[in-house]
Amino acid sequence: MNRIFSGVQPTGNLHLGNYLGAIRNWVKLQVDYDCIYCIVDMHAITVWQDPARLREQTREVAAAFLAAGVDATASIVFNQSQVPAHAQLAWICNCVARLGWLNRMTQFKEKAGKDRENASVGLYVYPNLMAADILAYRATHVPVGDDQKQHLELSRDIAQKFNNDFKVWIERAGYADGIFFPQPESVITGPATRVMSLRDGSKKMSKSDPSEFSRINLTDGADEIAQKIRRAKTDPHPLPDTVAELQKRPEADNLVTIFAALSDHTREGVLKKYAGAQFSAFKKDLSDLAVSVLGPIGAEMQRLTADPGHVERVLREGAERADAIAAPIMKQVEEIVGYLRV
Ligand code: ATP
Ligand code: MG
Repeated sequence: MNRIFSGVQPTGNLHLGNYLGAIRNWVKLQVDYDCIYCIVDMHAITVWQDPARLREQTREVAAAFLAAGVDATASIVFNQSQVPAHAQLAWICNCVARLGWLNRMTQFKEKAGKDRENASVGLYVYPNLMAADILAYRATHVPVGDDQKQHLELSRDIAQKFNNDFKVWIERAGYADGIFFPQPESVITGPATRVMSLRDGSKKMSKSDPSEFSRINLTDGADEIAQKIRRAKTDPHPLPDTVAELQKRPEADNLVTIFAALSDHTREGVLKKYAGAQFSAFKKDLSDLAVSVLGPIGAEMQRLTADPGHVERVLREGAERADAIAAPIMKQVEEIVGYLRV
């Protein structure tokens, strides 16, 4: 059976990168897969979060999922910390993963920055928790943006090492092929798997970027969207007529990619229309397009956040359904690793 797991951290306002790289694809995947969509609050606290804001943002991210078209009756929507299996399996993943594997993780290097000694241990083992998130449901497919590819490969390594280390006991538990955890596959799709910052074409758009002008939030109004796009960094040349030329200009490429993703076209298609155009004209059309796609989502988010009781009911019910899948898997894992249960 194919099962999807994916998550977003409640670390701030969701932005266009989260939408195009992840959530927009989630909505489509609901048709063919059993989907579990998680607000990963345990990941969020790997860097400092104000407790009151964390709770608020957890509700907001849930509202964003629903507003973007996630169907909480067909799919499971919940926040990570309400299901104990995540923490329980994360510890086992900590013991399976090797230091050498984690030392290669580029996200830790980027997020810890120069002051690495002062980063939390949680930030370092973040990818092990992510492996636990996926494996706790024995998920087979994980839709993420391009930035999470490396973490997903680590999840695969952990799954494989667990299967190898405990082969005999896995077979004894009734898995004749010795495979307890399937190897989760990344699903990195869509025309915008890596949306870049509007201020710097070499950095990805992030919730944690201190500059508000680096990103377009799902809750931004029409004026904010237009202002941010107008101010987006570009170069002085008109738009080129080929993708090969475009790729040499990261900021221009980013805006064309966003245009393509929002309008369900390819970059070629966008260039066909805008080759030779000045950025002023292109940015105007991009703003209108972004407002037409994000406007209704932002409005629906506002409606949902005004009714926290509804969002909380969705999360409570989602957590119960998630736990019903993960708890029995966790029980088997505990038996396989040799925890005594008396
Ligand atoms: P933070 O800065 O706190 O890490 P983030 O913006 O990176 O926040 P996450 O919650 O870490 O957001 O990631 C949620 C999902 O969004 C993941 O699937 C991730 O791959 C995807 N994603 C994040 N940023 C981008 C981006 N710029 N382009 C495409 N996908 C992205
Ligand atoms: Mg991130």
